[in-house]
Amino acid sequence: MFTNVRIVLVHPTHPGNIGAVARAMKTMGFSQLFLVKPKLFPNPHATERAAHAADILLNATVVSEFLPAIQDCGLVIGASARARDVPWTVLSARDAAQKIAQESAVIPNIALVFGNEQNGLSNEELRHCHFQVEIPANPEYSSLNLAAAVQVMCYEMRVAYLNSLAHENSGPEKKHPPATTADLEYFYQHLEKVLFDIGFLKSTRSNKIMQRLRCLFNRTRLDRREMKILRGILTTIEESKV
Ligand code: SAH
Repeated sequence: MFTNVRIVLVHPTHPGNIGAVARAMKTMGFSQLFLVKPKLFPNPHATERAAHAADILLNATVVSEFLPAIQDCGLVIGASARARDVPWTVLSARDAAQKIAQESAVIPNIALVFGNEQNGLSNEELRHCHFQVEIPANPEYSSLNLAAAVQVMCYEMRVAYLNSLAHENSGPEKKHPPATTADLEYFYQHLEKVLFDIGFLKSTRSNKIMQRLRCLFNRTRLDRREMKILRGILTTIEESKV
């Protein structure tokens, strides 16, 4: 999972943050860390904060300039909390994560780039990014700690990836065609009749309750097989009363 998605830290200052980034990555299933001219690396503070993710630090690629870290990438997204004068396309964290999860199936290498603790990404660095991503934080203080920002993005990518798997594997259950409006109308009529028969509905409140029940069942997007089961239950109730 995500072996072709790399996290790039541009000029990180605090080795502790680099370690915390490695930990954030590993907990979410990422392993490719690129460091552009880190101030102090390798460093015991980084190893300490990485905890059981020290392997990510050992395998990290260290480069002295930004471009070599992204030159083989087909999608580059720069993380920044700051609005720019230059009109970049800004994606929300969730949309960017979804884009990466989708495109990682077809694009050989993808980079998610983070700026340094003091100054963030420069306009020049952002110019090489296809998109900017912004974590929708408190507008009065929107600057997350570097490792926290990496954690949020890696979490969002993991969730997007797991969702895409869930859709793929939604399996035979979902292959049943959806119940049509006509099917639903028969079902609601049947339900209403049975609820009257068993004395649950009394004429005065019945419309409102039926409306709520419609709302409830419509929300579930019943398929035909589920509809049949429900109709079967209603018929059994009717028969059991005879
Ligand atoms: N003081 C810097 C921010 C440093 S935070 C500035 O003004 O830009 C370190 C890095 O974490 C940022 O460069 C960015 O890549 C990431 N980051 C922090 N908060 C973020 C947010 N709300 N949205 C997207 N990225 C964020």
